[in-house]
Amino acid sequence: MRPDNLNPLFAEITTLPGVGPRLAKLFERLAGPRVIDLCWHLPSGLIDRRYRPSLAEAVPGRIATVKVRVMAHQAPHSPKGPWKVLCTDGTRDIDLVYFRANQDWLRKLLPDGAWCVVSGKLESYNDRLQMNRPDHVVPVDEAESLPAVESVYPLTTGLVARVVQKAVQAAVARAPALPEWHDASILKARKWPDWRSALEAAHHPETEADLLPEMPPRQRLAYDELLANQLALALIRLKQKRAAGRSQKGDGHLVEAALQALPFPLTASQRTAFAEIAADMAEPHRMLRLLQGDVGSGKTVVALLAMLTAVEAGQQAALMAPTEILARQHFNTIAPLATAAGIGIELLTGRDKGAARKRALERLADGRALLAIGTHALFQDDVLFRDLGLAVIDEQHRFGVHQRLQLAAKGKGVDVLVTTATPIPRTLVLTAYGDMEVSRLTEKPAGRQPVDTRTLPLERLSEVVGAVGRAIEQGAKVYWVCPLVEESEAVDLADAEARYGALTERFPGRVALVHGRMKGPEKDRAMKAFAEGPADILVATTVIEVGVDVPAATVMVIEQAERFGLAQLHQLRGRIGRGGGRSTCLLLYRPPLGETAHERLKILRESDDGFRIAEEDLRLRGAGDLLGTQQSGLPRFRLADLAEHADLLPMARDHARLILERDPDLQGDRGAALRTLLYLFERDAAVRYLRSG
Ligand code: ADP
Ligand code: MG
Repeated sequence: MRPDNLNPLFAEITTLPGVGPRLAKLFERLAGPRVIDLCWHLPSGLIDRRYRPSLAEAVPGRIATVKVRVMAHQAPHSPKGPWKVLCTDGTRDIDLVYFRANQDWLRKLLPDGAWCVVSGKLESYNDRLQMNRPDHVVPVDEAESLPAVESVYPLTTGLVARVVQKAVQAAVARAPALPEWHDASILKARKWPDWRSALEAAHHPETEADLLPEMPPRQRLAYDELLANQLALALIRLKQKRAAGRSQKGDGHLVEAALQALPFPLTASQRTAFAEIAADMAEPHRMLRLLQGDVGSGKTVVALLAMLTAVEAGQQAALMAPTEILARQHFNTIAPLATAAGIGIELLTGRDKGAARKRALERLADGRALLAIGTHALFQDDVLFRDLGLAVIDEQHRFGVHQRLQLAAKGKGVDVLVTTATPIPRTLVLTAYGDMEVSRLTEKPAGRQPVDTRTLPLERLSEVVGAVGRAIEQGAKVYWVCPLVEESEAVDLADAEARYGALTERFPGRVALVHGRMKGPEKDRAMKAFAEGPADILVATTVIEVGVDVPAATVMVIEQAERFGLAQLHQLRGRIGRGGGRSTCLLLYRPPLGETAHERLKILRESDDGFRIAEEDLRLRGAGDLLGTQQSGLPRFRLADLAEHADLLPMARDHARLILERDPDLQGDRGAALRTLLYLFERDAAVRYLRSG
């Protein structure tokens, strides 16, 4: 349970003074729905009001706070002209300028003859000093109430600076003092204040330098966030280790047979990766390993060999894919090999029901089936294994940490292998998986030719259709991808259907359509028609993105390519160029193309290297977004900036490990403080892994 003292932070923002339901919506868009979200909304700038010159020495262009006496009010000369309040400080005059002003309000605010303190930007106009609608006007005896420095926050449409400032500061005021979770020595070495002071200080920068990520208060907050992340991951890992692993050693006979049956030799990378995995499985601890490799690098085969190793060791293995289509594809590849070797194999997807499902469940439970391929359906409660030894999770970025655990929980000491084509940099692997071992496939199978990639404006559609016609006459298979963007799913679908209609008219009987709204069997029929004939063209929304493998496909047309992300385009393009033949990818765009879109498409034309493309993508979109991409499954940080705080991440990892070595269940005072840290950053689930959580 979350400690009570944190509750005010997790209250809705409507509990803040002046934030009603209407503003709450805007704040939610800006930062989030709760008080704590505003606490994490740090200032991006500041306004320094400490410049207090006499008017004679005041420099136009600067923000200044000046003490002045009101001499006269001057009504506008023309209907659109400004109301002016003429003032002086005895050294020089200044005009306070108000467009569309309310007279009565102004006369009350700045009474004739009164001394006031005003603060705002100084300007010079026709040799006169002026201030356009000062930010602050107060009577002299209230001068103390003027902020010396004001924080400037990122805004969103509909929210003005003052409102955000007030709400954020009210939120920060709710922050309680919390017990210290860091060692005194680290606080001293890094000059970190306690948590509450750090939060306060981060929200009240005194100088521009205070806004830098390396300043102690900001650094501490970032470190707290990273530590919570690493501690949560370390707890999950510890829990997995506690459920003791076991050694799975194969004798190699199934692996050997599979290698014989494959129509190609393994690449050097595949051999190395498999050797690493087999060695890890043979160890008595639990394996938690990531198999990373660009699209088309051949991860499936490696995963299959690992699964066969588990079977050789007398255990079962399961492979979980993110989509039905993929699960079926894997099943279709693996089943013949398994059957030839006399190994029972079952397919389990959301679609399999009734008697067939019942039979599959029985065969997994009593061990007649040793391999299971499926989707999320694999971790439903009624799916039991006789003895699950290895769980492979394909294209992991679509699953969360907890789903991984759910599958691993179906056996004792299950080894886990996760495959991904996302070229996640090392640092991000750490944030997403903690200390996970990584095997990398660094090369593509021999004989692959780079895909010839071209960009064309949509006007040249008829040429493209002509070229597609010639290609299929020569036996090519063609993917034709239409974008599917959530906001307008219906419209996009209509696009795909219209394209399907038009192409069918031109090439009757040779076109299939597949999209996410179709029922499973319909999808299968379309995929099958494309993979095995009679369809030569597959019109698809992005459901084909992940992992589909039709080696005969050599042409891909992507419509409105400018609407896709770079990484996504790379993944899509990875569907072709798999066989030996020359492949072509045509990126159709709707002009005019913006500068960034232009650059992105250019990168794709020039490069076929997933890592380089990911890096460029990161550069073009800014660091935040790679993390932010919805599907990436990577954590999103509010306070830590992985580019700026890169050195803090390994430190947090080591620190987390040390903490759990000393106190694996977070007992005692320090332990309690660390639990508070986990709750503060909403790692509640991790706390549950503690024995006395
Ligand atoms: P991904 O890494 O994208 O999941 P796949 O495992 O789907 O890649 O493999 C892509 C294609 O390459 C498949 O058709 C597969 O049969 C083939 N392949 C895998 N390994 C090799 C190899 N060593 N030599 C030739 N082709 C291979
Ligand atoms: Mg794959």
